[in-house]
Amino acid sequence: MKTAVIDNDKIKVTQAKNLTMDNQKGAIVKVLGCGLCGSDIVKFVHKISKNGTVLGHEIVARIEEINSDTDFKKGDVIVTSHHIPCGKCNFCKHGNVSMCEHFKATNIFPGGFSEYVYLTEEHLQNVAHLKPDNLTQIEASFYEPLGCCVRAVKRANLKNGDSALVIGLGSIGILMAQALKAFGINVVGCDLIPERVEILKSYGIQAFTDLPQNFEADGIFMTSGADKAIDTALKYVRSGGKILVFSSTPKNFGYANNEIYYRELTVLGSYSPAPDDLKDSLDMLKSGKVKVSGLSTVYRFNDIEQAFEDTMANKIMKAYIKISDD
Ligand SMILES: [Zn+2]
Ligand SMILES: [Zn+2]
Repeated sequence: MKTAVIDNDKIKVTQAKNLTMDNQKGAIVKVLGCGLCGSDIVKFVHKISKNGTVLGHEIVARIEEINSDTDFKKGDVIVTSHHIPCGKCNFCKHGNVSMCEHFKATNIFPGGFSEYVYLTEEHLQNVAHLKPDNLTQIEASFYEPLGCCVRAVKRANLKNGDSALVIGLGSIGILMAQALKAFGINVVGCDLIPERVEILKSYGIQAFTDLPQNFEADGIFMTSGADKAIDTALKYVRSGGKILVFSSTPKNFGYANNEIYYRELTVLGSYSPAPDDLKDSLDMLKSGKVKVSGLSTVYRFNDIEQAFEDTMANKIMKAYIKISDD
């Protein structure tokens, strides 16, 4: 089968050994397509993942072979995420599922940018769902990234009718803003790029390149990875408000101690979703509360390197790698 692997500064499509079930539980799925996540870019650019790694986790796939206690069957088209929390450890008990050791250790094999992927029984039991009929494969591939946003909204724990500002309107910012709206939050977005502001407006949410004077929000959602955006967050959060950190920044340097203290701010992070967040995400996509049509640019598997380059150059909002023609 073909897979796309990290090869120093390149992403190369190469031949890998076919997968076999060998009486294991789980399923071998044919990957129809896989979204390119910001975290894939970070792992590639900062060489966090070693050579030979197959990135990608936002898959839409068809079950080819299955041995499972679930109701899934051969031919089903599904979405799944990659990590599963144990539900029992101290992290899980406190809702910090993405810190759970089991969560970090679980993954899809070898990775989403592959013609075939092996899913464990645990994936099938906890994080896999049938693709809803009313969603295209590309729309359904937003299941995992939207799940991350749903978790962030829940962690911020704002009240119905509270105000929120999303800083950074890349595809994640667009999802975050819509997720906030779906939870009854009065949300606006901002970005320095006018085209991105227009995209959020087209989804019925107010957005600005320059925020109105005296604007402030109960919650700030930082989906921008720019160092400067931290100042924007501190400027627009109301005293006593919350800043939810949802992106790494190059300088890894940020929120001022004295502002947090004197202004009684809460700064909190949110990383990866729990199974419940993912389920909510799929419901929001299915019901149309969150819309994603038009966000993705589609690339053929052989052009995956171009998808990485275009994403890094900010030329596109979101790349979807079409892996199978089915
Ligand atoms: Zn992702
Ligand atoms: Zn755990």
